Amino acid sequence: MRLESWDELEEAKPSFCEVCGIPLNNPEERHERICFRCKKQQIQEKKDDSFICWICGKNLRDFNEIATGLCPTCRSSIIRKIK
Ligand SMILES: [Zn+2]
Ligand SMILES: [Zn+2]
Repeated sequence: MRLESWDELEEAKPSFCEVCGIPLNNPEERHERICFRCKKQQIQEKKDDSFICWICGKNLRDFNEIATGLCPTCRSSIIRKIK
């Protein structure tokens, strides 16, 4: 299932990865304005020991966020997808 709210928000303008310039079709990618490949690369370049969301790469500070590996935004979007 798609994330309707993000789709509606982003539908008006074309979304491209800010790093490599490929068109973004995935709602998560469009939301972040970066494709998963570049995002992953950026995460690897950071190489710090902090915990990050496995979808958007945001730093996680809350214990519950670290336990799931997801930031609140991505977790709620996944919960919405499941429902
Ligand atoms: Zn990219
Ligand atoms: Zn996230």
